[in-house]
Amino acid sequence: MNRRNFIKTGMLGALAAASPISLSAFDSATRPGTRSGRLNLSFKPYELQLRHSFNLARSQRTTTPGVQVQIEYDGVTGYGEASMPPYLGETVASVTGFLSRLDLGQFADPFRIEDIHEYMDSVAPGNRAAKASVDIALHDIMGKITGQPWYKIWGLNPEKTPNTSFTISYDADKAEMKKKIEETAPFKIVKVKMGVGHDKETVEALRKHSDVPICVDANQGWNDRDKALEMCHWLAERGCLFVEQPMDKSAIDDTAWLRERSPLPIIADEFLQRLPDVKRAMQAYDGINIKLMKSTGMHEAYQMATLARALGMKVMLGCMTETSCAVSAAAQLAPLADWADLDGNLLISNDIFDGMKIVDGKITLPDRPGIGVVPV
Ligand code: MG
Repeated sequence: MNRRNFIKTGMLGALAAASPISLSAFDSATRPGTRSGRLNLSFKPYELQLRHSFNLARSQRTTTPGVQVQIEYDGVTGYGEASMPPYLGETVASVTGFLSRLDLGQFADPFRIEDIHEYMDSVAPGNRAAKASVDIALHDIMGKITGQPWYKIWGLNPEKTPNTSFTISYDADKAEMKKKIEETAPFKIVKVKMGVGHDKETVEALRKHSDVPICVDANQGWNDRDKALEMCHWLAERGCLFVEQPMDKSAIDDTAWLRERSPLPIIADEFLQRLPDVKRAMQAYDGINIKLMKSTGMHEAYQMATLARALGMKVMLGCMTETSCAVSAAAQLAPLADWADLDGNLLISNDIFDGMKIVDGKITLPDRPGIGVVPV
C-alpha cells in the first residue's frame, strides 16, 4: 500500500474530505521505526471493485466505497478499514469527515480502547463504519505490541472456526449465472441472496450442480408473512440451514410470528447494529448476524457475540465487501460463531492485504499478531 497517499488527520484531513488531494509524505514522527508515543491516525479513500455486480432485493451495484486507515503508535502500524455499502448511509465524505474530527493524541496508548470508543461515540452518533476502521487499527496495534493474534488474546481455539458461506445472487443471464455457480465449488455452504423475485429459480439452478447446504438472505425482501413461511418450508426441504432477515426490519410482529412457525432459524441482520440491539432481537429472531461495520468494530462485536451466546441465541459472523483487512479482523471472532459469511474479500478484484484464508471451505486464521494481515 502506498503510505504516501494517506491523509493525516486534523486540518489536512478536513481539506481532504472536501477535495481529493494527495499529500507528499508523513512527517518523521509518524514513520515506522520512530518512537512517537502518540496515536497518529491517517486515512485515504479506496474504492472496492466487485467481481460481479451485486443484485440485492433493493439495489444493484459494481463498486463499494471504502476508506483505508492506518494508526501509528510507537513505531507500530495498525491497519483498519471502513466499507460503506450505500444502504448503511455512510459515505467517503462522512467517514473522512468523522475521522478528521478525531483527536486520538489525547489517549496515552491504544489499550485505552474502552475510553476511545466512549470518546468516538461522544464525537458523533452513528458513523459505525468510521468507528470500526479506528477500532480495527487499534486492535491490530494492541496485538502487535503484545505479539499475539486476537483469537489467542480472546482465548479462542482456531480449530473451531466454521466454514464460510460463499454468496451468489440471481442473474438473468444464464451464462453469468452458471459462472457464479461454478465459483461456489470450493465452498461447503452457499449463501443465496433472495427477495429479488427469482428466489426459487436461484436455488433450482444451484441444485442442478451442487447439493451443499445453503443459507438464505432475503435482505428484507419478503413482505408477506404467509409467503415467507411457505418459502421457509420450501427451503427446509432443499437443504437450507437458516434464513437471514426475511422481512422488513420494522416488521417485528410478523417476524416473531414467522419465527414461531418456521422450521428454519430466523437470523437478524438489518434489524440490529450494536450491543443494545442484541436483547431487542430476542423477541423476533433466533440469532444475530454480527458485522464489524455495524458494531463499530471488534471491541463491541466480541461483546455482542458473548452476550448472544449467553442468551442462547445463534451467532452468525458477516461482513460487507471488504479487503482482507476487515475480513481478517472479523475472522478473529470466528471460533465464537455458529455460522460465518466472511467472503467479502473474495468478492472484490482489488484486495490489498494478505490475511485469513479459506482452506477447503473453512476459515483459517494466520498465526500473525494483531488482526493477522500484511499489505501486498
Ligand atoms: Mg444480510
